[in-house]
Amino acid sequence: MKYLFTTMLFCFVASIGLYSQSEGCITQQDEQLFERLEYNLKQANKTVEKGYVTRFVPVHFHIVTDNDGSNSLDEDKLIKDLCKLNNRYEEADILFYIDEISYINSTNLNSRPRLSSSVSLMRQNRNSNAMNVYLVTDILQNDGSPSGAAGYYSGGSNNDFIVMLKTTLGNDSFVLEHEIGHFFSLPHTHVGWEGDISQGSTNGGYQPDIHGDTVRIQIITGSTQSGPVEVELVNGSNCNVAGDRICDTPPDYGFGQSCGCCTMVYDVWDRNGDKIEPMIDNVMSYSNGCDPFLFSQEQIITMQSDFDSPFRSYLRTGEVTEYNPIPNSVNIISPVSDQIYEDFNGVLIEWEPIAEAEGYRVQISGRQQLSFITTDSELFLTELLPNSLYFVDVFAVNKFGTGCNTVTRRLFQTGTGSTSVNETESVNSVTLYPNPARSGEQITLSLEASKNISGQLSLYNLNGEKIWDQWVSIFENRSAIELSSAELTPGIYLLEFNSSEGLIVEKLIIE
Ligand SMILES: [Zn+2]
Repeated sequence: MKYLFTTMLFCFVASIGLYSQSEGCITQQDEQLFERLEYNLKQANKTVEKGYVTRFVPVHFHIVTDNDGSNSLDEDKLIKDLCKLNNRYEEADILFYIDEISYINSTNLNSRPRLSSSVSLMRQNRNSNAMNVYLVTDILQNDGSPSGAAGYYSGGSNNDFIVMLKTTLGNDSFVLEHEIGHFFSLPHTHVGWEGDISQGSTNGGYQPDIHGDTVRIQIITGSTQSGPVEVELVNGSNCNVAGDRICDTPPDYGFGQSCGCCTMVYDVWDRNGDKIEPMIDNVMSYSNGCDPFLFSQEQIITMQSDFDSPFRSYLRTGEVTEYNPIPNSVNIISPVSDQIYEDFNGVLIEWEPIAEAEGYRVQISGRQQLSFITTDSELFLTELLPNSLYFVDVFAVNKFGTGCNTVTRRLFQTGTGSTSVNETESVNSVTLYPNPARSGEQITLSLEASKNISGQLSLYNLNGEKIWDQWVSIFENRSAIELSSAELTPGIYLLEFNSSEGLIVEKLIIE
């Protein structure tokens, strides 16, 4: 018998190594979930008779932050993940669109979502016409200790929402797809064999030294996520009542927890002596590295039945009737690759419009991080700094998020063609004298302001290196600040005054 790993890995987060930490799903597969499953299985024939029907699911994403707004999530990550989600569910003709993205500031909810106060907060914020997904930074135990959980579906008519880690977005993890499976009444393929993940256990699932090569037990009781579960047989004779109660998913005794490589590593027989071949790449199993994970046909029909059921009537808003995802990437017209602009406070970003787009997200990175949303196909930037390298990313967005490979990136450079920036409304004039100046000469910065302002005055060279900075106050009417140029070698410098009122940049030439 082959016996490779016993490290449990599920809902895998790309940055976490194989042996470091388990990341689990702690969905409670309780009586209520099984009652809904039974109902949905009974409706299967009706659902199949309906034939080809696309079901559109409105999703309300709640981005949870700490009280002060920190530990948030870059919305772009979310928008990009929708494409992957919809690809996974396309075969089921279930498609997800953004109904709303909103924010909740609560440190407690952001780290301990199972506190009763956190649950109340989620109930209060729950959108009653959408699937609700709460994105949190941590899922700790209520006492603050780690739970090892990456996500869960919280069932019941009072809750009925998904909670998951923000770190599961923007990589090849399948937590969202998996939890949505639970939302639509699917149990784990290996229900009963989860082990106690909430206690950080790594011994869930089948283990040869405990269960033997031929598993003779009839009931598995090792899970805190479900009650006792009848052990499923290969011949299908008990598939209606055993395991996940879905007959076209083969028996799974939690084999995916044994390996991070998406292969069945054991030779195991059921108590009839039939060899077990699990569907290890099933979305509802615990396994890692099987991307793309799949649903069985019966799982698909069950989810469709759930969407059509009275319990889910609130999702059927009829608001969206057509799937029009963003098909391709944005073609940037300007800047061209590696373009050098003479100016810096007048840079035009322009791209070819995409018919399906409802808007565009433009991200500037480099010396500054700036983000814009526009419905135009161009953007005129006046807030860039001189002599700096920037990347610009443009992607088209609609309610189905952005396409799977839609980021187009261009590098460009700004020059010194313009001599100054003044974004500060309460500063009416700025002069630097003399300019150009000789090295060692005293330089005066004069400002005429309509109120008192304090801020950081900094001097940069053309490589963007800070030469010095100091906190200064300028006063209503005229202020003069004396600057020494004794340390400055000949060249071009940028003097920046950064305050809560805005940014002022002046070019200084030392001869
Ligand atoms: Zn799960």
